[in-house]
Amino acid sequence: MLKFSVADEKLLSNRSFIEAEVAKLNANKTPATVPQSVTANAPQDTAETDRDVVVCVRYASTSFAANLLLTADASPFTLRARPLLQHELDRGLFSAVSTSESSVSLHSLEFKLNGTPKLTTKAFPLDYAFGPESTNEQVYNCTARTLIPIALGGGVGSLFASGQTGSGKTHTMTAMEHLIARDLFQVAREYRAKQDSVDISTVSESADFEFHASFFELLGNKATDLLNYPNELTILEDVQGQVQVKDLAEQKITSPSHLLAVLTEGATRRKTQETMKNSTSSRSHAICRIRIRNMRFSADGDDSEGLLYLLDLAGSEDSADSRAHSKERHAESILINKSLATLKECIRNRALAVLSTKHVHIPYRNSKLTVLLKSAFELSSNVACKTVVVATLNPSVLDTAHSVNTLRYVSPLKVEVPAATEAN
Ligand code: ADP
Ligand code: MG
Repeated sequence: MLKFSVADEKLLSNRSFIEAEVAKLNANKTPATVPQSVTANAPQDTAETDRDVVVCVRYASTSFAANLLLTADASPFTLRARPLLQHELDRGLFSAVSTSESSVSLHSLEFKLNGTPKLTTKAFPLDYAFGPESTNEQVYNCTARTLIPIALGGGVGSLFASGQTGSGKTHTMTAMEHLIARDLFQVAREYRAKQDSVDISTVSESADFEFHASFFELLGNKATDLLNYPNELTILEDVQGQVQVKDLAEQKITSPSHLLAVLTEGATRRKTQETMKNSTSSRSHAICRIRIRNMRFSADGDDSEGLLYLLDLAGSEDSADSRAHSKERHAESILINKSLATLKECIRNRALAVLSTKHVHIPYRNSKLTVLLKSAFELSSNVACKTVVVATLNPSVLDTAHSVNTLRYVSPLKVEVPAATEAN
């Protein structure tokens, strides 16, 4: 069993003090409420940014999304703290995360010179705080589910999970993939039934859409196909700046169970690799892309294609963690942190670019990940584009510092809406 450092031992031995202080702090707070489902009104034909984060939804008046049954909600700033695992409880670890309706608080201890402990708490505002008791379905309803209508409407919906290794990114993203597989065809059929004013039982399974799935992994600068393993992929950018992943396998999806099987195949490949190759999955980004073609538009020669990106990002390790590893690992860590920082800048600047009349530089070129995602960000302004980031946390008191980093990383993605834009 792993030994604790002296500092960690000291922290753990103050459990009752920490818990009493946290209880005092929480006494006056409303407990977090998590909505069971999200239903929103049809989006307006304007650039629309709700309370915060990276949402930039711009709809053409002819856009399909405008009429969808399930329309887009604002991108929430979302956090999920997983439960402590049995082996962590067995080691005497305890949680130092508390959530209230509109914020999450991360607790730690400081010691005064005379040795007396003092609780330090950092609070972060957010839209949805999912605690250890949250279900995948609850997280899904507030995040991934809201992206389906965007993609069916010809827009780009992206879901990112970001956080420390072991904090629950893969757990959450895998669940989101499964739930999307369950719902994608059904939502498409509901939409068509409404559009054609017919009973849903008369709508075909694909509802005149075509679904294509691909799944690949980016480790450093190397991209590997997870559906045609271990095919190495080349990322190409043509003169028009269009990015293509050369030879990426794409499966045409014919049913919910088919989609589930394909997504499971990619995830299993990653998992197998993890056990075989020294945990590569924590150091790689997994990118699942579902391309949705609206065959009615295609028949008119007006090709409308929506995209759903589901990204399980590489673990954000701090440099102290990576120094414990080899030189090669350390270099890899630097590359990961660079790609995460660039991703953050691209999401944020893209949001600002939509809101602003001035030119805003979006530094896609600074990492392979963002070069790859360029198409997700850079579509015409008439295309709906919504990005949801779920920050995942390990609730253990020993991970507070890392959790603070995770939230510091995600929270600047909030983009305040200038009053003038709101009034549009
Ligand atoms: P990451 O992908 O961030 O490295 P994982 O998703 O692999 O982390 O999660 C680490 C461990 O925690 C796994 O054993 C996983 O099953 C468990 N876990 C993560 N999130 C949850 C959750 N919400 N509920 C229960 N167990 C979870
Ligand atoms: Mg993982």
